[in-house]
Amino acid sequence: GSTTPSSGYILALDLGTTGNRAFVFNAEGKIVGQAYKELTQYYPQPGWLEHDPEEIWQDTCWVMETAIANAKIPPSAIAALGLTVQRETCLIWDKTTGKPLHKAIVWQDRRTAPLCQKLQQEGYAPEIYDRTGLIIDAYFSATKLRWLLDKFTDVDLNNVLAGTIDTWVLWKLTGGKVHATDHSNASRTMLMNLKTCEWDEILLKLFQIPAQILPQIQPSLGVFGVTDTTLLGVEIPISAILGDQQAALFGHGCHRPGLMKCTYGTGSFLVAHTGSQIVRSPEKLISTVAWTQRNSSGVLDVGYALEGSMFTSGACIQWLRDSLKLIKTAAETEAMANRVTDNGGVYFVPAFSGLGAPYWDMSARGAFFGITASAQPEHLVRAVLEAIAYQVVEVVQAINVSSGTSVGRLTVDGGACENDFLMQFQADVLGIPVERPIMRDTTVQGAAFAAGLAVGFWENYEALVQQRQIECVFEPKSNLSNFATWQKAVKRTLGWTD
Ligand code: ADP
Repeated sequence: GSTTPSSGYILALDLGTTGNRAFVFNAEGKIVGQAYKELTQYYPQPGWLEHDPEEIWQDTCWVMETAIANAKIPPSAIAALGLTVQRETCLIWDKTTGKPLHKAIVWQDRRTAPLCQKLQQEGYAPEIYDRTGLIIDAYFSATKLRWLLDKFTDVDLNNVLAGTIDTWVLWKLTGGKVHATDHSNASRTMLMNLKTCEWDEILLKLFQIPAQILPQIQPSLGVFGVTDTTLLGVEIPISAILGDQQAALFGHGCHRPGLMKCTYGTGSFLVAHTGSQIVRSPEKLISTVAWTQRNSSGVLDVGYALEGSMFTSGACIQWLRDSLKLIKTAAETEAMANRVTDNGGVYFVPAFSGLGAPYWDMSARGAFFGITASAQPEHLVRAVLEAIAYQVVEVVQAINVSSGTSVGRLTVDGGACENDFLMQFQADVLGIPVERPIMRDTTVQGAAFAAGLAVGFWENYEALVQQRQIECVFEPKSNLSNFATWQKAVKRTLGWTD
């Protein structure tokens, strides 16, 4: 063709909770190769969840090589690499051997809930919220990192590096040369000051985290380093790093106040861009970094966001499949929910790992309510899907309160957005249209767009996101919501393990 092979493609990696994927995009933004590998989940105790960092790295290499092979292109044709990862999950490793000291503690892991409760009782919540925009919760990295360091008190910390998954994989990709993260991932650690966008000394002291083990925080769009030649035979610039939800926000084209998206994956994450201002929510949404970039005069442009994080949504569907064995595939839930005319009075609270926004209750646990002898598997499945939608209603209501204007429509992505029943029910209970794009892998697309824009492979962000096509708009139809009953069920699960 007429395109120069040396500048023809963008490679994007999406290292998620349930699996790792790599996509190769061409200059038109079309996917020409991809690969996916599911990731092993380790549950050492109830409420704990770990990932093997070596497996993440090996799978990263495998999906990269396989996607490139599928695309039938030489690695030298890749102009840049974009990296997006599951957020908050963190680990520590030995700088010399490159070996992790322990498995990574995953964002859903609740092992540090007691430490969080102690911090709350000691009155740290307002200061931590002011400095980081976050609510004290085991979800964020700081207490996980503290837990890891407590486990290895005899280790020489001068030889230890810490990081979230982006930092680990960047370090591996660069052959141990670069120890860095971006502002969007750093904003989830509970150690970065949201205003200065730097590690916060007061918080490092509070959590007793030595600054030297932490990565350097850099702009999300910008070159972090190049891939080690032993990997793909060529040096590819790694030119974007974003947290997965922020990458999806970028991919959806939500780059200014008023634009928001919801991703229905393992958890559900509603994120609204708030421009260059930190917007604070009275309804317990968190304030976070959307993405950052240096402008032409070298000044850091910071985009902020408001986020409602719901820890468990698609994970409930996996539970119906793998633990209850009520279904064989996630997709079946759609037909099952449609086989009954309503939920039969059954309500579900998806508090498997406590509740996130807007409750932030680490001790809530999941429950079914309203079960009678006539409850069928269909009712249980429908109740689970309805709960996924009801959680989002609560967050949208909170966003409406914070921003002063009502959300007019919702763009969606993530594995569970495939479910037409769920999307229609979501539109019905929200009373606004739900818009589903053709390209569902918005997270990986966002990472690719960011990486390409950062090296000048693409020039116009708005043009890129405008060429995205909508597959389906779910218009609100019926208004038979039992939202109030569901909220009653939620209230009964609060404080369950206290
Ligand atoms: P993550 O990025 O968190 O790993 P994905 O976006 O890949 O998650 O979505 C996977 C989740 O979506 C799983 O939890 C799965 O149960 C759920 N899921 C996939 N397809 C459907 C479907 N048709 N209906 C409901 N849930 C689904």
